[in-house]
Amino acid sequence: MIVAIDGPSGAGKSTVAKAVAKKIGFSCLDTGAMYRSIAYLACKEGISLDDEAALTKLAQSVDISFGHVEGDPIPRSVFINGEDVTTAIRTAQIDKAVSPVSATPGVREALLECQRRIGHAGDYVVEGRDIGTVVFPDAEVKVFLTASDEERAHRRVRQNADRGIGSIDYEEVLADIRRRDTVDSSRACAPLKQAEDAIHMDTTALYIEEVIEQICALARGEA
Ligand code: C5P
Repeated sequence: MIVAIDGPSGAGKSTVAKAVAKKIGFSCLDTGAMYRSIAYLACKEGISLDDEAALTKLAQSVDISFGHVEGDPIPRSVFINGEDVTTAIRTAQIDKAVSPVSATPGVREALLECQRRIGHAGDYVVEGRDIGTVVFPDAEVKVFLTASDEERAHRRVRQNADRGIGSIDYEEVLADIRRRDTVDSSRACAPLKQAEDAIHMDTTALYIEEVIEQICALARGEA
């Protein structure tokens, strides 16, 4: 079974996806981490972010994997070609580099196959931008999470401060969130948009626990 959670940056997808997965005993796939990993490697290898052919080749040839602590189905780390990039993919530099990378059709095609392979191997909560529309259009549960730009920026600043990575400057984070929303929603290939059959949840004024409970109820067929 697939629970698809889509929405813009900072809407709380990661927190919600992990908590829901834990409660209903599913694993969890963060597709944003996969795009970030390609962006990280492209920057490291000096690949120009407008070189579609080179980015596509990179995405087709890399090995992205997730690390687990024994007994916990929620991944704790991300590896690209064996390198642990868990924190390296969360910097302000990667926040910027990921947009052109994720707008490259060849990159999306390569990651799409990989995401479907992972998701079909078990019960997954999958979070991203195009999960309910493109990657798993037949997902049993589809949720589109949003929140106001300002609330999302506040949450992202708190998250960055807790993790000790990324910008903690509110105005910079707000500008980056708005920039990524625009690029993600307007790209030609698999743009960020709500699936017609997704349930819209605006989390601005909702406690995260309420959102988690609502999604768990949907997954259990109780709502
Ligand atoms: O979710 P996160 O903010 O980590 O995603 C980083 C970027 O990856 C997004 O801004 C978007 O450009 C891209 N992405 C995407 N499709 C997905 C998941 C993420 O294009 N399914």
